[in-house]
Amino acid sequence: MVKAVVGANWGDEGKGKITDMMAEKADVIVRFQGGANAGHTIVNCYGKFALHTLPSGVFYGHTTSVIGNGVALNIPLLFKEIQSIVERNVPMPKILVSDRAQIVMPYHILFDQYEEERLGGKSFGSTKSGIAPFYSDKYAKIGFQVNELFDDEGLAEKVKSVCAVKNVILKHLYNKPEIDPDELLSTLHEYRNMVEPYVCDVSAFLHQAMKDGKTILLEGQLGTLKDPDHGIYPMVTSSSTLAAFGAIGAGIPPYEIKQVVTVCKAYSSAVGAGAFVSEIFGDEADELRRRGGDGGEYGATTGRPRRMGWFDCVASKYGCRLQGTTDVAFTVLDVLGYLDEIPVCVGYDIDGKVTTDFPVTHLLEKAKPVLRTLPGWKCDIRGITKYEDLPENCRNYIEFIEKQIGYPITMISNGPRRQDIIYRESPLKKA
Ligand code: GDP
Repeated sequence: MVKAVVGANWGDEGKGKITDMMAEKADVIVRFQGGANAGHTIVNCYGKFALHTLPSGVFYGHTTSVIGNGVALNIPLLFKEIQSIVERNVPMPKILVSDRAQIVMPYHILFDQYEEERLGGKSFGSTKSGIAPFYSDKYAKIGFQVNELFDDEGLAEKVKSVCAVKNVILKHLYNKPEIDPDELLSTLHEYRNMVEPYVCDVSAFLHQAMKDGKTILLEGQLGTLKDPDHGIYPMVTSSSTLAAFGAIGAGIPPYEIKQVVTVCKAYSSAVGAGAFVSEIFGDEADELRRRGGDGGEYGATTGRPRRMGWFDCVASKYGCRLQGTTDVAFTVLDVLGYLDEIPVCVGYDIDGKVTTDFPVTHLLEKAKPVLRTLPGWKCDIRGITKYEDLPENCRNYIEFIEKQIGYPITMISNGPRRQDIIYRESPLKKA
């Protein structure tokens, strides 16, 4: 049985917590896209962790953590991340890295910085982890797969030819120091030693795991609105954030994905540039940011303050549809307990016409939020474990949003810990 945990919006919806929680009953957890540019925050008995590369299942002794071929693999960072959790007394996790995963090269990180510098005020707000240059090279067919580290002759030759191209750009476009191919080759030899113990034919491993009836979780990064095709292009990430891509980024048949858990946060937040229709500002935003998540809404990778907004039904309905949602996990609901009234964005006004369909980017930029205000519940809902025990206004908020987005909310997260979860039977859930 394969299940996917993915985001409906701009990322930071709380996927890490939901994956970590679902990992309890899973055998294998797979990262299938993205890189170290985003992070998952997980709170468990070992402490609080921000993971960037490792899947959110590494804290369990019974799971295998897999880095799929679709990931942008930063080898020294993976190595550091493994060390940092083991140092904090987490037992050494079982980790497999796809022999077809491609490697984030040191120059990808530099190119990311140089390009953002060049763009100045028009930059994408990249986390400068090298992700965009990495995926450009992957599709330009000048990337390096992990298995190439073990082909001495081929590697040396390819390093030389790739450096020749990169150095022209470094010199003439960015006016920066050139790459020394010998130095790069020795760095790659170090990478080989770091990654060697984990390298595996991941799709063959997963094929066998499925045959053995194991439960496999695909863990997505970011959310629908950052998808390069279906998101707010060009303010998107460089690999697909959709559950469908899980099949490609892990190397499994698409029909094996039986459950798609789409994570939606009870309010909105976004990082980086791009249209954000339900965005709020000033004191209202500061208060939500300060109270949000677990210790405030600040980037797990960069520490940047996140942009804040009210729940956006238009974006979330679209986000859930593109994911192929079977279940919505509605997270961080406890944070809203301080509000007398809670505005929700139920439509977009574009040139005087109201729509509930998420538009393409140039129309999105013109959209103004149509807000509906719901009464708050004015209490702390942490610790509640049964849906019926939630305050009536809180249930009304959930049920109102469920109706607007049209996908079943079957899990409600009311705190950062694994056990802070309420399961709910939804009228929208197909048997
Ligand atoms: P991800 O990238 O989608 O995993 O999102 P983040 O790592 O940004 O997670 C959101 C933050 O919210 C983290 O600090 C989590 O510990 C925290 N969190 C997750 N679920 C809940 C919840 O239900 N309530 C509260 N208060 N915090 C939560």
